[in-house]
Amino acid sequence: MEIPYNTPYMTGRELDYLKQAHEDKKLSGDGKFTKKCHEWLETRFNVKKALLTQSCTAALEMAAILIDIQPGDEIIMPSYTFVSTANAFVLRGGIPVFVDIRPDTLNIDETKIEAAITDKTKAIVPVHYAGVSCEMDTIMAIAQKHNLYVIEDAAQGVMSTYKKRYLGSIGHLATFSFHETKNIISGEGGALLINDENLIDRAQIIWEKGTNRKQFFQGKVDKYTWVDIGSSFLPSELTAAFLWAQLEEAENITNERVAIWDHYHDAFKDTEKNGYLKRPFIPTDIHHNAHIYYVLVEDLDTRTQLIADLKNHNIHAIFHYIPLHSSPAGKQFGRCHETLASTTSLANRIIRLPLYVGMTTEMVDIVATKVSDYLKTTHIDLKKAV
Ligand SMILES: *Cc1c(COP(=O)(O)O)cnc(C)c1O
Repeated sequence: MEIPYNTPYMTGRELDYLKQAHEDKKLSGDGKFTKKCHEWLETRFNVKKALLTQSCTAALEMAAILIDIQPGDEIIMPSYTFVSTANAFVLRGGIPVFVDIRPDTLNIDETKIEAAITDKTKAIVPVHYAGVSCEMDTIMAIAQKHNLYVIEDAAQGVMSTYKKRYLGSIGHLATFSFHETKNIISGEGGALLINDENLIDRAQIIWEKGTNRKQFFQGKVDKYTWVDIGSSFLPSELTAAFLWAQLEEAENITNERVAIWDHYHDAFKDTEKNGYLKRPFIPTDIHHNAHIYYVLVEDLDTRTQLIADLKNHNIHAIFHYIPLHSSPAGKQFGRCHETLASTTSLANRIIRLPLYVGMTTEMVDIVATKVSDYLKTTHIDLKKAV
């Protein structure tokens, strides 16, 4: 049996909604399905304004424009994240300042943020890794004290909560991803969520290529014209129609993923107790969406060999990220706050296991058994060698 790392889940209604958009002859953005998605995101997650985007990357780029990033401005973020978290700000001349992560959650270490603030700092970008929330109360308090924006990179955090509040509803701005590899999907896709009311009007202008199209159609202005910088950030109705089918099932998709995640977690309990690996840690007061199940192994060699061994058994496990501070562009455009010891170590030791809707508990058991057996065997061998 072949066990892939991921396979996109379709709810079954995507084609019906695509057909409706086709029949309506409404293909460009901001139509019926886009509005349905906006409304759903706003009410479900309690955010002031939601705007669908072509991707989470595009939403992050909008955020950088909205908070007026100027060349030389600094943005505090983890190095252990996807490139877009940093790239969106670098595009505007901003300087990513990389702060180390917590060894337990792999999220930005909130106790190290304040020391990284300078008079150039403009924003903090917490990334909710694996859909597990960052320590948002602390981060929001630091931001308030130093008059900074908080932009949640909630690409992986759709449907997760922090102290009963949905991720995406806490920072001044937040971004979601609906990329095929995420929990809720539309191929490529994302959303910008706006909680700071002062940013809503300008966000709609930036979204519509820097024009006042929205205000024009609302009858608020009598001319439709170019008023600000912007780009074509909005997705087509086809993307929104596909996404609508997924949002309708968001609860079920999340529940199914969480059940698989929990099954892994139980299966690895003893392996962890015996010291062969470390399981993910979920702080209290947090509900996560089971975006990733990962384990941490002893070192890079162990990980490389384990991934190869799993592959020999047709199980596809993967790793990420190359920390941004050690990447060519990260070195060129960013700087580190202190040494990023946890980032470097954890990035070498993480292994992400298959998790997708449709994966059976039997498959989870096969993966968990293979991982545990491999680590037990090599551990004993190592002891013999000493
Ligand atoms: C996936 C991801 C992104 C980018 O999302 P796209 O929709 O592919 O642009 C950004 N940040 C994080 C943390 C991600 O996991």
